[in-house]
Amino acid sequence: MHNYQDTYRHKGQRRQLRTILEGKGIQDPVILNAIESIPRHFFLPLEFDSHAYEDKAFPIAAGQTISQPYTVAYQTRLLKVNIADKVLEIGTGSGYQAAVLSLCGADVYTIERHQELSENAAQTLRSIGLNDKIKLFVGDGTRGLSEYAPYDAILVTAGAPSVPKALVAQLKVGGRLVIPVGKSSEMQRMVRITKINDKEIQTEAFDDFSFVPLVGENGWKLND
Ligand code: SAM
Repeated sequence: MHNYQDTYRHKGQRRQLRTILEGKGIQDPVILNAIESIPRHFFLPLEFDSHAYEDKAFPIAAGQTISQPYTVAYQTRLLKVNIADKVLEIGTGSGYQAAVLSLCGADVYTIERHQELSENAAQTLRSIGLNDKIKLFVGDGTRGLSEYAPYDAILVTAGAPSVPKALVAQLKVGGRLVIPVGKSSEMQRMVRITKINDKEIQTEAFDDFSFVPLVGENGWKLND
């Protein structure tokens, strides 16, 4: 286990990151406070320490990425998290987004297909005292996590070819699903689906992003 320190330099860099995000239109103080208080450098390999508070995605293990802070804030805002909402995240990755959701007051369930990433994330979340608040699972999140459904909100942090029906089915009425969707694995449109009732959904489309692919039964296939 690496010995990460959270210094005044890191805290100052986080304040600057907050200002950068405000400049890009993120205004929600709950989200900004979460980003200002979570030591993002703990979620990255030690060699990225001096870059951790740049508004950029970075590589983590298993060929995956930690999302750009702006993207984390953007998706969190679209999710409209209320205190004590039960939120399912698909694509734990480093665990950073799960930590942000937790500090926004959510009861977080997060699933990752790579066991190595889930184990690393569990260790990082333990090191910042969030392990009791976030439940981690290993598996194919394109099927959702039916054992704990229904959810107030579901957040997909990998690019999907289409919206998995299993995820819509696991939303409560009034629940929100935020998911990047695109026919190319290079570019996706951010989509929010709100469950109006058991038969109706509302679909809204937002900006374009570029995520690593959502791989699984209801996502991209490994040889796509
Ligand atoms: N939320 C992460 C964070 O805060 O570091 C970033 C996630 S990264 C952009 C996308 C993650 O989705 C990768 O870790 C990838 O392994 C995972 N993933 C892809 N397909 C998945 C699936 N079917 N089920 C669960 N996780 C999946």
